[in-house]
Amino acid sequence: MSLETTFKRRSLPLDRPFTISRGTTTETEIVTVEIVDEDGTVGLGAAAPASHYGETAATVEAVLPDLLEVVEDVGDPHQLARIERRMRERVNRNPSARTAVSTALHDLVTKRLEIPLYRYWGLDPAETLETSFTIGLDDTETMREKTEAAVDAGYGTLKVKLGTDRDVEIVRAIRETAPDARLFVDANEAWTPREAVETIDRLAEFDLAFVEQPVPAENPDGLRFVYERSPVPIAADESCVTVADIPRIADRCDVANLKLMKCGGLREARRMIHAARAHGLEVMLGCMLESNASIAPACHLAPTLDYADLDGALLLADDPAEGVGTPDGRIDLDALDRPGTGAVLE
Ligand SMILES: [Mg+2]
Repeated sequence: MSLETTFKRRSLPLDRPFTISRGTTTETEIVTVEIVDEDGTVGLGAAAPASHYGETAATVEAVLPDLLEVVEDVGDPHQLARIERRMRERVNRNPSARTAVSTALHDLVTKRLEIPLYRYWGLDPAETLETSFTIGLDDTETMREKTEAAVDAGYGTLKVKLGTDRDVEIVRAIRETAPDARLFVDANEAWTPREAVETIDRLAEFDLAFVEQPVPAENPDGLRFVYERSPVPIAADESCVTVADIPRIADRCDVANLKLMKCGGLREARRMIHAARAHGLEVMLGCMLESNASIAPACHLAPTLDYADLDGALLLADDPAEGVGTPDGRIDLDALDRPGTGAVLE
């Protein structure tokens, strides 16, 4: 068998500037990967590199030739374990670049088998759930307006970015605007352990499902300090990168937030889900600012999750790819009428 591979960098402007505690983004860069078999079937994947984890579009482009050489050498897309092992031997970091190749291979394999990806894994599309919609940081009135727009658009689960000196005011305004919504909040490492405990104590009255990454990942003792004192469940995101982190966070949080762009591929994500469950953690799958080219594959893991935060493509002004439909935020795998991940470049 022979496989041909190509990749392409794309700049994607956001619908509106997106702010978290670490800064503001107006545009995101992704790199799409295509792997074509001898019948002309195309597998599509994409990297959405995050500078927080040491990657940019340029670093992805720098390592993709090595990774795709492995794919061409092995030549058989069904040899996922062999290809992923050899890619890790060549390039140990660069998780979003490896994820792009992993998802393109999964897309190609399941297109060759003419089934959607979730059927390849034997998952039940009825066990799906709804994605949260993220409200980025802004002045409180604008965050209230964004909340109103999200509720009007049908989203029942909202994730609110925090890490300001008016976090309680923000959550109060959002809870008033969306009294029935399920609410997550995400501090993106902004608080000290003591600030986190004080703030979460004050936020508890607003009925939050969990508080994500209250303190920096470099402070695991601080995470445990908050976890042991918090009246609200705690989720770990920046503290939870690969499967090796699961035992490290198990007695420091309630929810593990995995992302394909952190862990390096769909197979690693599945290992993390199993490991997290074995450690008694709930599982959320999150995302970066991403196109449907990489959100669609993530959607196929929905039946294995407790929470999905897969709204990256909803925050773009214009997505070059179509993916899995999310009417009213619900990840609708059942409605997917094509094989593979469902990601299609326009
Ligand atoms: Mg987060």
